Amino acid sequence: MASAINSGVTIKSDAEIAVMREAGRVTGKMITALLPAVKPGVTTKQLDEIAYDVVKQNGAKPAFLGYRGFPATICASINEEIVHGIPSEKRAVKEGDVLKLDVGCVVEGFYGDSAVSVWVGEAPARVKELVNTTRECLEAGIKAARPGNRLGDIGFAVQSLAESRGFSVVREYVGHGVGRSLHEEPSVSNSGMPGQGMVLQPGMVIAIEPMLNIGGWQTRVLKDNWTVVTADGSLSAHFEHTIYISPSGPQVLTVR
Ligand code: MG
Ligand code: MG
Repeated sequence: MASAINSGVTIKSDAEIAVMREAGRVTGKMITALLPAVKPGVTTKQLDEIAYDVVKQNGAKPAFLGYRGFPATICASINEEIVHGIPSEKRAVKEGDVLKLDVGCVVEGFYGDSAVSVWVGEAPARVKELVNTTRECLEAGIKAARPGNRLGDIGFAVQSLAESRGFSVVREYVGHGVGRSLHEEPSVSNSGMPGQGMVLQPGMVIAIEPMLNIGGWQTRVLKDNWTVVTADGSLSAHFEHTIYISPSGPQVLTVR
């Protein structure tokens, strides 16, 4: 999930990081289980059930189910839907769709949060470029998440790569701190200027989650009060990892 609702920066102890590694590991397993199930005809509700089973089999709790009333284990967003799509038995994935799967779980009170995008079957070159560039933007953002760097360095890394390929970066939804809450301080914007914003410290855990659009960056929310779509109806992609800023550099907790 993406948010701008936050509540306090926390520095995690080594013991807390160990628990967050487990939450991240189970979160990664959810995605590993989902990806082979993505094919034309599968409903987003069926995908949700697969993710729920992984959470339960690992003794964890779903992070999103019941969060501010969200009714499912995963967010499943298709094409112009950016984030926070609600799984439905009426929504089947089709050839050519761009599907975003955003998942999370809770282990011993600590959260993991991760997302991937895939195109289904064949897709035009520009659509593949959108998905691949969004993944590369996440990697660039992670590389910038070093102690002593600033939040603006992450935003700049993401934004400059995205815009160099002609894509826009969503402004109204951002990454966030992660810990005992799904959304903590700081907000981790996908746009910014080098050397600006909060200094990154060892022990911080943040979710970096670039959202890129083929068209403009503006968004709107559908009548279900959850699903965020591009205002111009253009395609969108989203990737996310939960990152521990260790003394020696960034570590991905939501490993797969
Ligand atoms: Mg998130
Ligand atoms: Mg997420």
